[in-house]
Parts: sequence; structure tokens; C-alpha cells
Amino acid sequence: MDRPAILHKTAADLRLPPHLADYAAQCRAFRWEDARAALQGLPGGGLNIAFEAVDRHAAGPLRERIALRFVARDAPPVELSYGELARQTHRFAQVLRSLGVGPGAHLFVLAGRTPALHVAVLGALKLGVVVTPLFSAFGPEPIATRIRLGRGDVLVTTDTLYARKVRPLRAQMPTLRHVLLVAEDGALASTIPTDEPGTLDLAARMAAASDEPVAITTRPDDPALLHFTSGTTGTPKGALHVHDAVVTHHATGRYALDLHPEDRYWCTADPGWVTGMSYGLIAPLLHGVTSLVDREEFDAERWYTLLESERISVWYTAPTAIRMLMKAGVALARRHAFPALRFVASVGEPLNPEAVWWGREALGLPIHDNWWQTETGGIMIANTPAFDIKPGSMGRPLPGVEACIVEHLEAEGAPPQVRVIEPPGVEGELALRRGWPSMFRGYLDNEVRYRKCFAGDLYLTGDLARRDADGYYWFVGRADDVIKSAGHLIGPFEVESALMEHPAVAEAGVIGKPDPVLGELVKAFVSLRAGHEANEALRLSLLAHARLRLGAAVAPKEIAFLPALPRTRSGKIMRRLLKARELGLPEGDTSTLEGGSP
Ligand code: ATP
Ligand code: MG
Repeated sequence: MDRPAILHKTAADLRLPPHLADYAAQCRAFRWEDARAALQGLPGGGLNIAFEAVDRHAAGPLRERIALRFVARDAPPVELSYGELARQTHRFAQVLRSLGVGPGAHLFVLAGRTPALHVAVLGALKLGVVVTPLFSAFGPEPIATRIRLGRGDVLVTTDTLYARKVRPLRAQMPTLRHVLLVAEDGALASTIPTDEPGTLDLAARMAAASDEPVAITTRPDDPALLHFTSGTTGTPKGALHVHDAVVTHHATGRYALDLHPEDRYWCTADPGWVTGMSYGLIAPLLHGVTSLVDREEFDAERWYTLLESERISVWYTAPTAIRMLMKAGVALARRHAFPALRFVASVGEPLNPEAVWWGREALGLPIHDNWWQTETGGIMIANTPAFDIKPGSMGRPLPGVEACIVEHLEAEGAPPQVRVIEPPGVEGELALRRGWPSMFRGYLDNEVRYRKCFAGDLYLTGDLARRDADGYYWFVGRADDVIKSAGHLIGPFEVESALMEHPAVAEAGVIGKPDPVLGELVKAFVSLRAGHEANEALRLSLLAHARLRLGAAVAPKEIAFLPALPRTRSGKIMRRLLKARELGLPEGDTSTLEGGSP
């Protein structure tokens, strides 16, 4: 279907609140120093993520506002006000202190999307304890590996997750001194008696602890969070972030997501990933919004119902979820109405242009793609609230972010040598000028790998992109995923997006397959929307469609049907796995594979 290259926003798309009237001017005037000054800072100097997210509001007019609202299918909602969240996180910090756990110690959380997880993360941050969230669907092996590599001192988890996934391998985590157990629903009220050495009942400890605030003394450069990357391209890397990241979380919550205290916000990312932490937990609290946490897994009907009944105004989700909603058909969306919804954004993978337009049809609003990485700690490039969208583009650098496209002068140099490509329209590696507050400060135990990410003051992202004449950035592919076919460089995303335009296609993943003549040939794997059948006629129709859209040199030569594509638990298509399977090679690190070891 032919769609215009620019989606000019109408008043209906913007549901434009008055504060956006001077949005462009605000962006132009932006400076990180001012953004830092917009936060309160600690009374004795210093900066702390949890203080800004919780304590600051608990001491002011937002004290009674609901900060977090947890919903589940078979249980009544649980709500925590800013005041209550402050008390609970003070208590949790006191519990840690009573165990002799202090600044610089390392806490892991493996507790689903529960109150306990949120309280533990924020309480630990107050003490200067470094936090790593783990995804609760990880199997025992990935959990043990991460706790061992991160030298975890404390783990907060549920009794069932502990019994199934931690206890069997506990001997492999020699640094782990304390396991704090909570009930399955993470409600922090029901006690979990335990007499196993090294495991404690968190609810009992909380009840006995004081809710006196602990003294918070963190400095902006003190370590705060260690996040493991998604493992899309290889073994996950541990990226270290500091408390100063809160400045980015606050600024991007405003400039990329347009959060305001009256918002009812829902970020669908799991807190086991950087998105769930930065934008599920930290950024919304910084802005004093009411944030929804759904404890259930994806379900199209449930999600539409939640958007409607919870009167969500700002929604942050991912392409994989959007594609699943698209797969379920627009009719399902039409059975609901979303009058409160005023802004929708997506991150994690390229958002196909079809999905942007689909948003307008199904939700009544276009979807705003934005780009960032575990390493960047926060949103860097975005289609923003008040500017036009170019469907298929990641948008433009946010205020305070300086992006460019570079080419490498030497393939294997260390440190890398690069040259900035000034003219628009040229593909190269996406780079960012260092200096934004949430930039990672190291890879766990891998200084060499970290140094390879920098050329002078440029951070090299490992993603290929191009910038157009209007300053919008277009994702081409991972540097590792780009296909070299008969002298052409082909980005998988372009091919996948063209396939997605075909009405039968729900998802597409494209790889380069070694070929004696072409070097690599383009092979596509597709899964189909409901009501379509995989057969030869459809395969030919897809090939013809792709050739028409992309030309013979770029279009796939081979198309295979799969019921679903392999993806990471954070929702990214794992092209390296499609390729390994196609070529009969070892699958490599599959610890983050969805549906992998439970
Ligand atoms: P690993 O580094 O372990 O291979 P990963 O890069 O997938 O995993 P994350 O940090 O979770 O780990 O993901 C960041 C990457 O996701 C980006 O580098 C980019 O490739 C991709 N990405 C994120 N958002 C977008 C987007 N809007 N458009 C295109 N790609 C995106
Ligand atoms: Mg990466």
C-alpha cells in the first residue's frame, strides 16, 4: 500500500496539550546543566535515582498520588502511593543495612513484575547498592551465570522462583550471602518462613525494620545499575550505569514521552531489561505519574482492555508487541475505544512503517519509534510528541544528544579510527558524541571491549544507519547483520519492512546466506497473519511483491515460512539464530532466547 513518506501530525494525533506549544523552542534551548538543575539533588549534595523518583515527591504535593498500580488477572489491584513507596523503600534500605549490606554491594532482583521488585530496586539504590534486574523467565543457568559474573551479594526473589531456579545452582554463586524471599505475588505482606541458611523472610524483616529514612550519600558518578544486554548478537554484556543517569531519564521522560503528573502511563517492558528499569520504573516516577504494571504476559484482548479501562494516556511498548496486535487483526482493536490515549511510543527494534500507520487505524494515534541501547541508558533518537513522523525512521536526536554517521578508516584498529560522514543519505555506523549523563561507564570485566566502543569522543553504537536531509535517522541494521550480496550492502530491516507490507505477513527476519556466486544471498523467514496459509502460491506472491518493491538485487532469493521467529526475551528477532540454524552451525549463547530453557 502506498503511504506518504511523512506523517504530518494533525491536532487529533497530537491531542496537543498547551505545554507543547513551545516544544521546539524548549528543545533548542536545552542544556544538560539545566536538566540536572531541574532535579532536586540530595540535601547534603550528591544525586540519587531513588531520592529523585520517590522521596522528592513523597515530601511534596504528590504524596498521596498513586505511583504504581499493579494489576493481575486473578487478584485485586495493588496500589502504592508516593508516600507509601517512600516508606517501603526506606524500610527495605534499613533491612539491607541491618544485614551489613552497604554502598558498593551488589543486589540482584528476580521477582517478576511485583511490588517487591520495585521496592527492592529503589530501596537498594538509596543505599548506594548496585542493582541488577533479572528476567523471571530466565532458566537456572542464565541466572547463576549473571549472579556469578556480577558478584551478587544479595538476591531478592520469590519462594517458587528460588526453589525452581536458584537453589539447584546456588553452589555456583559463591559471593551470594543473602537471599531475601517474598511470596509469589511479591506483595511484601505474607511471610515466607525459611530455615535454610542464607535465606531470609523479607516480609518479616520489613515488618521489624524501621521506616526511618536512611542517609543517602551517593554522588553522580557512583555506580547504580548493572544491566545485561539482550544477547541479540552474542553473549550478553554487563553495562554499568551511574546515578547521574537519572538526569537522562528525567529529560527523556519529558522530551521523548511527554510525561506529566496527571498521566496514567503504561510501559509494557519487563523490569528485567533496561527499558523496564529506565522507563517502566524510573522515568515515570521522576515525573510523578501513575504507572500501570501488568503482571500477566501478552494477550491482545487483555492489552486493549487495559488500555481502555485503565485510561492509559501515554503508552510505551515494543515492535514485537505491536506486530502481535497487528496479527490479531484491527477488528479486535475497534471493539475498544481509547479516548484517554494521547501518545504512543515504541522501542527495541526497528518499527516497520506499516506499524506506524496501523497505530493510527487501530489506536487512533500514530506510533512514535525511538532508538537507544542498554549502553546508552536512555532514549537518544526519537520521533517526538510535537514533530512530524517519518514512518520507518527512528526520528531525530533528542535535545542534548549529538549523533552522526561515521565510516571506519581501518577495519581492525584499536583504538578504532573513524571519519564523520557529513553529507546526508550515506550509510555508515551510528555514533554519539559522549557527554550524555546515562552513558554506560564500562562493560563488566571487559575493559578491552569497552575501549573498542570509542573513537576519540565518539561512542560507536554497532548499528548502521543513515541520516536524511531533515536530520531524521534511518536504521539499516546491526553492523553484524548487514548482508553483502553481489557487491551491494543490504540492511535486513529494509527487506523485512517491504515483506511486512504484504497482507499475509506478520513478521519477517532476513539473513545473508553464503552463496558461491553472490557472496551472500538474501534469505527471508516469515510468519503469517491469522487466516493465511503457507503454500507455494503465497511464497511466489511474496517473492514477486518483494521484487517489485525492492528490485531484484535486494529482494530475497529464498523465502521460508516459520510458525514464529526466534526472539530474545526482550522481543528482538534473533537473526544470528536463524542463520546458525540455516547453516547447521552451533547456536551460541541462547540464554535470552524466548521459549528457551524455562
Ligand atoms: P546485544 O548487544 O547483547 O547483542 P542488543 O543490542 O539487542 O543485544 P539492547 O541493548 O537491548 O541489546 O538493544 C539495543 C539494540 O536494539 C540497538 O543497538 C539496536 O540494534 C536495536 N534497537 C533498539 N531500538 C531500535 C529502534 N527503534 N530501531 C532499530 N533498532 C533498534
Ligand atoms: Mg547491543
